[in-house]
Amino acid sequence: MKEIEWSKLGFGFSDVNCHLRFTWKDGVWDQGEFVKDPFITMHIGAACLHYGQECFEGMKAFRQKDGKIVIFRPDENGKRMYRTALRTVMPPVPVEMFIDAAKRVVKANEEYVPPYGTGGSMYIRPLLIGTGPQIGVAPAKEYTFIMMVMPVGAYYKGGLKPVRAVIFDDWDRAAPQGMGDVKVGGNYAASLFAHEKAKKEGWPVELYLDAKTHTHIEEFATSNFLGITKDGTYVTPDSHSVLPSVTNMTLRQIAADLGMKVEMRPIPFTELPSFAEIAACGTAVVVTPVWEITRGDQVIRVSDPDTCGPVLQKLYDQVQGIQYGVLPDTHNWCFEV
Ligand SMILES: *Cc1c(COP(=O)(O)O)cnc(C)c1O
Repeated sequence: MKEIEWSKLGFGFSDVNCHLRFTWKDGVWDQGEFVKDPFITMHIGAACLHYGQECFEGMKAFRQKDGKIVIFRPDENGKRMYRTALRTVMPPVPVEMFIDAAKRVVKANEEYVPPYGTGGSMYIRPLLIGTGPQIGVAPAKEYTFIMMVMPVGAYYKGGLKPVRAVIFDDWDRAAPQGMGDVKVGGNYAASLFAHEKAKKEGWPVELYLDAKTHTHIEEFATSNFLGITKDGTYVTPDSHSVLPSVTNMTLRQIAADLGMKVEMRPIPFTELPSFAEIAACGTAVVVTPVWEITRGDQVIRVSDPDTCGPVLQKLYDQVQGIQYGVLPDTHNWCFEV
């Protein structure tokens, strides 16, 4: 193994010892095998390539203060992938098998889990794809389930950094009864065009409104929306086309534990100026504070551009504290490897 400069790690693919690969054929999953080669050979007619029969997950393993390696809430990711598989007519991976696979692959790549104190973690990317050939539109007859890992660095090297967000009225991400509530690659394909445009024009994140009426907040392209009201209530949208984020679920519980009021309800666009703090939340960065939101000619200033709000900072510290084993894990979110 080559020496890794932990402080220089970003968020991206890097070679590790192996990934874990399972095949589903004739109605059953096999036992899985470790594969070193990061390439896959499949039929050119594979259903995932032609008809998007594909889904994925994202979660993290942490090396804690006392040296233990834990995976954060893999049961929730397993349950979500199960739901996604049913929605896309793929054979669901049993949650127990999912958790076990995550533990196996992290264990097999243990030396790539960043040391405690570097702020890094091991990103775990489960992937389920229809690999059987299928030119007539129908579910594939063969599937591959992959669990891959990669070390990733601390996203915030000098504290939480607020960003600017944009709302485009020309593109939607997910239809009201579409696939917004499951984690499929197609949702990302649907948002790439707007994402590239936003990036080029200086906005690191895009916020989506409900596709039907464009009057209510849904979520950012790859992360959920949360707002803290001036009286300290945690508010997040209740919508069928928002992906149920494990991070959001975690933050809601932590907020409640801290004695905050938590609301999951429709959030009209017109309510945006009334929030004291706004953030995007997801596994990759936990929370990204948003200080300004632009929609056409309208620019909504939410908070200070240079510093993270006090409530978001506290929520972030609590999550990280539990993940790195510095704060008590009262809800049993950490699964030891
Ligand atoms: C993965 C994802 C999130 C974040 O979910 P976490 O479980 O918190 O990582 C939010 N929105 C979308 C669209 C996603 O795909």
